[in-house]
Amino acid sequence: MNMRFRGRLVLPDRIVSRGLLEVRDGRIYAIRRQAGAAEVDAEDGYIVPGYIDIHVHGGGGADYMDGDPEAIRVANRAHAARGTTTLFPTTTTGSPAQISRMLNACGAVKRSWKPAGAGARIGGVHLYGPYFAEDKVGCHSVAGRRDPTPDDFNHYFASGLIRIATCAAELPGAEAFYRAAHSRRCLITCGHSNATWTDMDRAFAAGMRHVDHFWCAMSSVASLRALHGTPMQASMEQFVLAHEAMSTEVIADGRHLAPELLNFAYRMKGPRRLCLVTDANRALGMPPGRYRFGPEDDGSWFESDGTVGLAPNGSLASSVVALDTMIRNMAAATGAPLQDVIRMATLTPAERTGIARQVGSLEPGKRADIVILDRNLRVRRVFIAGEEVDVIPCV
Ligand SMILES: [Zn+2]
Ligand SMILES: [Zn+2]
Repeated sequence: MNMRFRGRLVLPDRIVSRGLLEVRDGRIYAIRRQAGAAEVDAEDGYIVPGYIDIHVHGGGGADYMDGDPEAIRVANRAHAARGTTTLFPTTTTGSPAQISRMLNACGAVKRSWKPAGAGARIGGVHLYGPYFAEDKVGCHSVAGRRDPTPDDFNHYFASGLIRIATCAAELPGAEAFYRAAHSRRCLITCGHSNATWTDMDRAFAAGMRHVDHFWCAMSSVASLRALHGTPMQASMEQFVLAHEAMSTEVIADGRHLAPELLNFAYRMKGPRRLCLVTDANRALGMPPGRYRFGPEDDGSWFESDGTVGLAPNGSLASSVVALDTMIRNMAAATGAPLQDVIRMATLTPAERTGIARQVGSLEPGKRADIVILDRNLRVRRVFIAGEEVDVIPCV
């Protein structure tokens, strides 16, 4: 089916103020700098690429670790309704059986995916838990964490679904895990970790290039001093800031990080090395209340106040809002050009995960994953492969 979109087009490096974008057979066919008749008019808003979330646990009441294809579709629809068109379902800590069940369910949904009614497309799975440092599990169940062993992780990699692979760099077996992930061309990331600079150096040599949710559940000079004494050591924070090849991600929900930290991350790493992620749990789109983080049978309990998840000890238990909120917060915190803000939730995560030839920007040949925003960056309409999906009215 052919369709034309008219309005301000947000391209990776600039905004075309009166553009026309033509879609044919689910792909972007042409982009022109001219007005013209169109089926979709963004009026005084913007036409942007569909959002891409590389760290997301669930939404709409479902967690990907529920391990049931219908639960996975529920979460995918909850995110699509808020502008996310590609996502990477993210494992929590859990037993080998729970992680295998999640992979099987994601595989089934990915294979049978069609644009209409199925929600956001699965770009691949983010194997996140279970390889966390024991004292950095955060809101994940500690019983489900373990050190990486080939017997365990080879089984998950054999699914062919894993595109992003996390492990705390200081764990025994981490290097073997990173090398296995590298041979499968995953984005390799260090998270929930007390890694020192030396651990990070070794991990970098094995292919690690990303750190999960910057400043959350990661080492700092102060945390390493508490563990190892003096002389004080450089941490994951310094390693990421010092290495151009390293990327990272921020949870810009307004509850995890103050605006000046969001702005600092943008200024230090730039839009090509910083991703916006939701890290959203099942309480996204749900009323305040008590929910499980991770598998519905034995995930740890947390409380959603409607703006963030809170663990019983009062610490944060991941976000309950979608990328559209993160984009508005990031725009306000940084004052960055809009194309930079959009890039951090589209092309940059696509490049880091190796899917940028298909998605991530408004360019001819790419999939017609398109979001129409109003002038305040609120999601008005969402198209996946050129097919419109239902959106949640944004107030
Ligand atoms: Zn985490
Ligand atoms: Zn997470």
